[in-house]
Amino acid sequence: MTGEILCVGTELLLGDILNTNAAFLARQLAELGIGVYHQTVVGDNAGRLGGAVALALSRSDLLVMTGGLGPTYDDITKETAAAALGKKLVWNQQAYDRMAAYFARTGRVMSENNRKQAYVPEGAVVFQNENGTAPGMAMQAKGKLVILLPGPPNEMEPMFQDQVRPYLQGRTGQTFYSRTVHLFGIGESAAEQQLRDWMEAGTNPTIAPYAKTGEVLLRVTAAATDEEQAKKLLAPAVQKIQGRLGDYIYGVDVVSLQNAVVRAFRQQGLTLSTAESCTGGGVARRITEISGASAVLRAGICTYTNEMKRKLLGVRAATLSQYGAVSAQTALEMARGARTQTGADVGVSTTGVAGPEPSEGKPVGLVYVAVSSPWGEWVKELHLARGSGAERDRIRHLAENHALYAALQAAKRKEEESTQGEKEEDAQNV
Ligand code: ATP
Ligand code: MG
Repeated sequence: MTGEILCVGTELLLGDILNTNAAFLARQLAELGIGVYHQTVVGDNAGRLGGAVALALSRSDLLVMTGGLGPTYDDITKETAAAALGKKLVWNQQAYDRMAAYFARTGRVMSENNRKQAYVPEGAVVFQNENGTAPGMAMQAKGKLVILLPGPPNEMEPMFQDQVRPYLQGRTGQTFYSRTVHLFGIGESAAEQQLRDWMEAGTNPTIAPYAKTGEVLLRVTAAATDEEQAKKLLAPAVQKIQGRLGDYIYGVDVVSLQNAVVRAFRQQGLTLSTAESCTGGGVARRITEISGASAVLRAGICTYTNEMKRKLLGVRAATLSQYGAVSAQTALEMARGARTQTGADVGVSTTGVAGPEPSEGKPVGLVYVAVSSPWGEWVKELHLARGSGAERDRIRHLAENHALYAALQAAKRKEEESTQGEKEEDAQNV
């Protein structure tokens, strides 16, 4: 099924409001497996709106419209769409009763204008508006399906989720089931490169990449008649991604890096402490977002001055004076200090220049992330600046990502070592 989105409103054309409805609907329709090839915005003008509807119906199976369903004279969406499909508007008592109930519930007086909203195209399916007055509706003619939704996002979004989505799902006769593969250390376009042939083939399952700050997510979606079948389609697809991008995958359906860290540490029975400078406690904050963090995080130590790096983490004065606070050596001693001072299994640290000014003669964006663990110590030098002005927050966020990822690697080493140990034991037992 092909679909398109048509948003009505002069305010949208003028740039007074952002077209969040189009973004929301585009994602929702993609999740339903409906290919969206056009998005349009038109003002509240009958002639131009009529033209846009006719064009949309000439090339798509489904047209979803938002806005212009209200009670005023400039709200013309319903009249225009009904005319395009050759439908008369008929009185709908149920829509009227629901609207009257909404007014009574919110203690407002219904005006004569509102009666207009109780007229719906003949044969239309009506979607109730729990958060406003204008009902949504779906109508069919000439092999086309047109769905009208109110403009305000707080009315449109729940209406879509609760009523329109199941309605569309019923019509496509398919269930959609997704898995999300989380990647770290590779950009969106590089990841896409590896999967381009597959993405272009547009087969079932489909893959859609999403970029988050410093992370890439791949949403793999299978269309099937039931969940069982969808799962059968998804498993080999996820395996295929693992084959191509395995080095960058840190989890499947893990929600976020911090989630993956807490999950992995809990599974391995490990504890973690952080020693942070440029991230100012951000790594610890993100870990504590996750329920279950208390079993994992022993301490988050934020040491901004050299003196505190020495006192609280035991970083040597000689290290600081010889290499500076932003250095691989200091990062390593910070991670080691976090671990030994708190008795945690793993210590991770961050130290760097978040900007906007360089420090110690070191450039903005230079960050060191280090790990200390019984399975080794290592440090990573990062250059996170893009060279465009205000990027302090971005650099700090990326530094946190790298520290979380480093913690995850430590847990992975432990896991590898224990499976290695088991294998050796098995070998001895043979
Ligand atoms: P109402 O009954 O409130 O008049 P309506 O269905 O007629 O609803 P509009 O009058 O077109 O919708 O828009 C009402 C408000 O909804 C706008 O002022 C705007 O705040 C919001 N809105 C409309 N369209 C969009 C959109 N595409 N994206 C985000 N917000 C929107
Ligand atoms: Mg309106």
